[in-house]
Amino acid sequence: MNKKIQSALISVFYKDGLEPIVKELSRLGITIYSTGGTQKFIEDLGIQVVPVEQLTTYPSILGGRVKTLHPSVFGGILGRRDLESDIQEMAEYKIPEIDLVIVDLYPFEETLAQTSEEKLIIEKIDIGGPSMIRAAAKNFKDVVVVAAKKDYAGLEELLKTQNGETSIEQRKSFAAKAFEIVAHYDVAISTYFNGNSGEYFLQSVNSPKAMRYGENPHQSGTFYGNLEELFNQLNGKELSYNNLVDVDAAVQLIHEFPQGGDVVFAIIKHTNVCGVAARGTVSDAWKEALAGDPESAFGGVLVTNGTVDEATANAINEIFFEVLIAPAFDEAALNILKSKKNRILLQLKAEGLKLNTQSKSVLNGVLIQEQDKGNYTEWKEAGGRETTAAEKADLEFANIIGKHLKSNAIALVKNKQLVGKGAGQTSRIDALRHAIEKAKQFGFDLKGAVLASDAFFPFNDCIQIGHQAGIEAFIQPGGSIRDKDSIEYAQQNNLAMVITGMRHFKH
Ligand code: 5GP
Repeated sequence: MNKKIQSALISVFYKDGLEPIVKELSRLGITIYSTGGTQKFIEDLGIQVVPVEQLTTYPSILGGRVKTLHPSVFGGILGRRDLESDIQEMAEYKIPEIDLVIVDLYPFEETLAQTSEEKLIIEKIDIGGPSMIRAAAKNFKDVVVVAAKKDYAGLEELLKTQNGETSIEQRKSFAAKAFEIVAHYDVAISTYFNGNSGEYFLQSVNSPKAMRYGENPHQSGTFYGNLEELFNQLNGKELSYNNLVDVDAAVQLIHEFPQGGDVVFAIIKHTNVCGVAARGTVSDAWKEALAGDPESAFGGVLVTNGTVDEATANAINEIFFEVLIAPAFDEAALNILKSKKNRILLQLKAEGLKLNTQSKSVLNGVLIQEQDKGNYTEWKEAGGRETTAAEKADLEFANIIGKHLKSNAIALVKNKQLVGKGAGQTSRIDALRHAIEKAKQFGFDLKGAVLASDAFFPFNDCIQIGHQAGIEAFIQPGGSIRDKDSIEYAQQNNLAMVITGMRHFKH
């Protein structure tokens, strides 16, 4: 049924874009009610407006928290125009009908992007605005609701062409959009409440960048996010979809090793670490990382927590790689590395990585989870003997590496160098066999090496195979109903075994 708008309530945070609409409303002789700032804006245009306080008989109170939350406002929006009892009550309480509601909500997401101060963020949770939007949308049989600036143009067009009349279909369509806007608004708020860095996720959603293509050339791809706050790109082409996936893995890994401790160099292929070592100097760390698997390193993403110097740059220059990430580069190193114009060099900013969540699409939805922070909840020595100091250092290192390998994952480490790994295998034994094979391929003696597993051992077979290969210390989360089989084997064979209590699946 077509209905003519007789009155409107306007309460908008940003006033831009409103002028043509209020002019149309004024031309059509529609009564305009409005809240403080909006009222002033309309008055300044020389258009008559009734302050909402005239309806509520209250001023805006509690610093603007309560402006429109009043039965006169909500009754005017929600009253059913064709229901005798509603009509009578509206007359009894002198509630005027409100036929059009225009709201632009407090900019919650924008505020998140600008500040981390909780007090400021909380004040930008609009209460009256969403309530009015919901009320008007619920009563779409009688009321038109415009819940965002982006819908002003549609309303203006309608006012012009239909002289203030709207059809039920049009009102229902505005109502559907309005509920979407409120739902989005509430998700933004709940995301913020659930994790203090939700803002970065939301911010990302608002800044899409088309990529040349996705994982393969026939797939389109878009990146949502901001790389500038994380990196200064010093050289090379634009990061591709696959580069970004590997750069993410590289940055997540290197964040486990704060600057000031060991210098760590890692080589990432298809999100897995294929070489990594911790040494006193960046060039030694690079050499030993590469030695771990010189074959896989080809075309990798390289990352270090140290300053790339000339010697290291010369050494790295000899192999083909896609990306190198470091917190700093010496000038001489940069000159050497820039010799290839496509080679991507990223200077990693110290506090750039802020997202506490990660997401991936599944079926018709998206999974969001907290990032895998922390490495172990306990350090329980459960084997036949205590770990030695050297083993302990290697086990801690291996445990971190295992966490950054795809499951099922096994990391073999000796003297803080990854000497073999198995990742993304459908069986843990296969992951271990592969790790041992790789170690042998590149000439490592596994005697005295340590083994980390991303998840528990369901049987003692991995311990046996590892032991036969020379490994004498193991680290694993535990949690299997057969933990005792592995523990007993370790105890009977004088092997060290640490139970961490923290699983690190990475699917
Ligand atoms: P104005 O600038 O007109 O004073 O305020 C407009 C803003 O106030 C709009 O963003 C609107 O959604 C919001 N608003 C309207 N009524 C209320 C209320 O009762 N409480 C709160 N917190 N916000 C309101």
